[in-house]
Amino acid sequence: MSGVVAIKTDDLILEKLLYSLSSIQHRGQDSAGLVLSDGSSLNRIKGSGLVNEVFKEANIYDKDYKIGIGHVRSSREGCQQDYNIEPLVSFTKNNEFALAHDGNLSNYDLIKETLENEGTSFHTHTDSELILLLISRYYDGDIIKAIRKTMDIIKGAYSCVVTMPNKIIAFRDYQGFRPLMLGEDEENLIIASENAAIEILDIENYRNVNPGEIIVIDDDGLKSYPDKDRINKNHCIFEDVYIARPDANIENINSYMFRRRCGEILYRQAPIEADLVCPVPDSGTPSAIGFAQESGIPFAEGLVKNRYMGRSFIKPSQKERDLAVRLKLNPQKSVVNGKRIVLVDDSIVRGTTSAKLIKRMRKAGAKEVHFRVTSPPFMYPCYYGVDTPDRSNLIAARLSIEEIRKQIGADSLEFIDLDSMLKLVENPDDYCKACFTGNYPVKKDEI
Ligand code: AMP
Repeated sequence: MSGVVAIKTDDLILEKLLYSLSSIQHRGQDSAGLVLSDGSSLNRIKGSGLVNEVFKEANIYDKDYKIGIGHVRSSREGCQQDYNIEPLVSFTKNNEFALAHDGNLSNYDLIKETLENEGTSFHTHTDSELILLLISRYYDGDIIKAIRKTMDIIKGAYSCVVTMPNKIIAFRDYQGFRPLMLGEDEENLIIASENAAIEILDIENYRNVNPGEIIVIDDDGLKSYPDKDRINKNHCIFEDVYIARPDANIENINSYMFRRRCGEILYRQAPIEADLVCPVPDSGTPSAIGFAQESGIPFAEGLVKNRYMGRSFIKPSQKERDLAVRLKLNPQKSVVNGKRIVLVDDSIVRGTTSAKLIKRMRKAGAKEVHFRVTSPPFMYPCYYGVDTPDRSNLIAARLSIEEIRKQIGADSLEFIDLDSMLKLVENPDDYCKACFTGNYPVKKDEI
């Protein structure tokens, strides 16, 4: 998972990029980077850590930058090296390019192997490098042509921003897997993964970048190059379930309301008698509020969250993840002692979080712990940018719901029904639900 930003503005570009990147920090917490252009060349700063750590001593205030791009990234196990940090930069005889990418190419391995057999060497472990390499190879003065040719070859999920010395460009795959938004006011043009990164600049006028659309922003303003014929919408439903911030309005769905309604639906689907509804914060909070309102069972904060820990799922190894759950969430004895608790979370992936939390809730005195999940069982890995383990590590791929209940130690366990959840979006056919169904809209390793 990653977040991208591109900005053209008259002043204070560094501050604006940093505010915007901070607003999408939840999309990646391992590294951050940005590339600024002074009109003739590109300047990059990047490093491991959160936005406010990486750019603490950024010493680039002395130049007159007008355009730039930025990236926040969470890395897969084994891919944390500095050379993988984006934006990536390429200097060719024709031009300079920098690229930041959110998503995952489903045919990366195949194309990479073909190019390697032809003698190309790669310098990172990222599929973003492949996109950048193809664009710079195909560029002969016409950036739209170079990007279209690249889009003809790469498959899967890519919401990308690119900067050249005199322009910024954004493009989104034909499925529109990952979000990408465009905002503008009199002083600024901005493209970003989520509207929070746009709204932080006080810009209220924004829209989705359409699947297959290329946007170019330069001194002449903004030009859009759509390709409507090839659109095959498959927006990621898991953005609404978990990934996006609650204030995100991706494809005109507000994530907070979506999650709240999922909580309401889940109670109607499987009513339960209990004393308190507690969220697994923060991912389960809107759904727990919905569940509590619909059931009339009081809402209570039965888990205290350490705000200084990142998302536990994002930690690369299982050992780090186990420790992260304990460091991040602690039961509130005074709330849960002697009570029948409904614990609400957005998803169960490996089953690490739920098992540990239930055990600790019981230790804190909870009489019963009922687990409610506002997404269907997560059974298939994502090939489009959500960092998920192999199928063998997805608990719902191995065990039945009753077996999962036993394994995580819950008194009862319910998952929201997929069809009920899909009633919350305008057109369910426009969504990718492969993680729940195994129906992949773009096959892995297909050229
Ligand atoms: P697990 O412990 O593997 O079952 O992970 C479940 C927890 O991680 C839940 O609390 C979710 O909020 C969060 N989570 C679930 N899926 C993902 C994902 N694909 N990426 C990041 N976090 C996730």
